[in-house]
Amino acid sequence: MGTLFTRKRLLRFALSGALLLFIGLCIYFFPALKIYLEVEPVRKFYKLHGKPSEFSWRTIHKNETYEPFGNYIIRDPFSLTPKRDKIYILPLGSFTEKQKEIVTETCHFVEAIYGMNVVQLPVRKMPDVPDSMKRDIGITQYKTGYFIDSYLSINEYSDAAVLIALTSEDLFPSESWNYVFGLASFYKRVGVWSMRRLGYPDNDTLLYRLCLERTCKIATHEIGHMFCLKHCVRYPCIMNGSNGLGETDITPQFLCPDCLEKMAWNLETTPSAHFKRMLAYWESKKDTAQVAIYTQLLTTAHLK
Ligand SMILES: [Zn+2]
Ligand SMILES: [Zn+2]
Repeated sequence: MGTLFTRKRLLRFALSGALLLFIGLCIYFFPALKIYLEVEPVRKFYKLHGKPSEFSWRTIHKNETYEPFGNYIIRDPFSLTPKRDKIYILPLGSFTEKQKEIVTETCHFVEAIYGMNVVQLPVRKMPDVPDSMKRDIGITQYKTGYFIDSYLSINEYSDAAVLIALTSEDLFPSESWNYVFGLASFYKRVGVWSMRRLGYPDNDTLLYRLCLERTCKIATHEIGHMFCLKHCVRYPCIMNGSNGLGETDITPQFLCPDCLEKMAWNLETTPSAHFKRMLAYWESKKDTAQVAIYTQLLTTAHLK
């Protein structure tokens, strides 16, 4: 009698545990299911990559492979906390009026694509960089390590998830490199990117648009890395690796469905919220082609 009683209690205990585990798993994976159900209907609108050209990033970096959504979740990527939920952008150096406009526009773009508040800090003069951290190649170049290791600190801003300096000066990571567009530290949550080689926006409207597009792409791409998105290899996507400006220029200004799923999971948002923000952004820019794309995406996924 006693044994039967104990067995029943044990069985009840095990069933309750299993039920609780099931409920916990449902709650944990429900957002992933919601994201999946929103992304799958629109996946057909995104074309997969073709064969890479000879000198492209994908040819040179064959070791970079596709990371499935499940792997990304298991990897436990860095994510926001209620206290640290803003992107800080610091313009650093001397900017022309048009470059200042581009920094502001980039902040708006980043805000739309990630759905996070972006704080644009006032322009700060280039600090007094020690000689060992700069060099002269006709123009002065600054070593990225100085900004990452000594100058930028996430602790300067208590609500910052990431802090990015956008500088008008040229950068290099080490003596063997000619230059670098930028570099970020995943652990320190800071990064620095240069606008020096992105074109001359003051010269005419076309160059302004080109410089703006490049700055938006590079800032979005690097912030994506800071949220643990790897280089994207399956689709043309803003998270594609790039060997230079030529490749950056053919990179699209959107997150592909693979990266969108991961971003939505990490930032606790949904693809539909992302599409709606991007639609509003492109409407404000009066870009009819982009408006048509996001309207179609929302309609196809029955999300409008
Ligand atoms: Zn990258
Ligand atoms: Zn992607």
